[in-house]
Amino acid sequence: MIPRLYIKQSLAVGAIVPADERALHYLRNVMRRATGDPLVLFNGRDGEFEAEIASLDKRKGALKVTRLRRTQDSVPDLVLCFAPLKKDAVDFLVEKATELGVAAFQPVMTRRTAASRLNIDRLRANAIEAAEQTERLTIPEVRAPISFDTLVSSWEPTRHIILCAEAGPALPIADALKALTLHVRAPNAWAILCGPEGGFHVSELDRLRTLPFVTPVGLGPRILRADTAALTALAVFQAILGDGTLRPPHPMMPIGTGADGAE
Ligand code: SAH
Repeated sequence: MIPRLYIKQSLAVGAIVPADERALHYLRNVMRRATGDPLVLFNGRDGEFEAEIASLDKRKGALKVTRLRRTQDSVPDLVLCFAPLKKDAVDFLVEKATELGVAAFQPVMTRRTAASRLNIDRLRANAIEAAEQTERLTIPEVRAPISFDTLVSSWEPTRHIILCAEAGPALPIADALKALTLHVRAPNAWAILCGPEGGFHVSELDRLRTLPFVTPVGLGPRILRADTAALTALAVFQAILGDGTLRPPHPMMPIGTGADGAE
């Protein structure tokens, strides 16, 4: 397998970039690579490149950028607003939502949010790893948590909220999203808002329902766990309003001739 790595440095054909600590550890200790071995690099801005290890030792390494593989693209403008969950559930959510192409994560402290602390650095690291695995060219942003009140009072009304509402009136999500595609002034900035394990407080749902930029949606007759609910909404969003019609960039072809990929 050819390692695919996110790196912060600027990338261009011919450039030699230093391997940062993470790249060094991954290439040397995890993947056991050596000078001359191929890899793929992206930085979220300049596209994706073929590269090779120019040098690698215990303390430093250099990576030579050899060929542009894909020009930069972007994911649909979709923010996932979620109430922080227990560690395993939130790790799972960030990994899977990154795979599903979310642009940003916005943690929201609701009344019934049980998890009070959130390790943002760990979530950012998870997002980077998931993006590396999934052929993404961007890393989703992981924002600092905000309160429910701040979310509602500072919301930019041009960004439409798809509210996963476990109670009260709501259209089935597929119907609701299809209806939104028919709007004359269809928004192109979106958010999905999902409650915590304990659900939204009724006052929160009531408040959200008064806002013109909120569409409450239902996800079927079962009560889903918060992480399942968010991922379900995300998958349906991508199918109807997002980039679900596109195909992966190319099969997992080896770099170059195709002869060296069957590891
Ligand atoms: N404890 C709550 C359920 C919380 S589920 C109760 O028993 O009512 C966690 C979150 O997932 C909810 O706040 C909601 O945003 C979302 N969710 C779960 N199931 C859903 C469904 N069937 N429809 C819409 N949203 C749902």
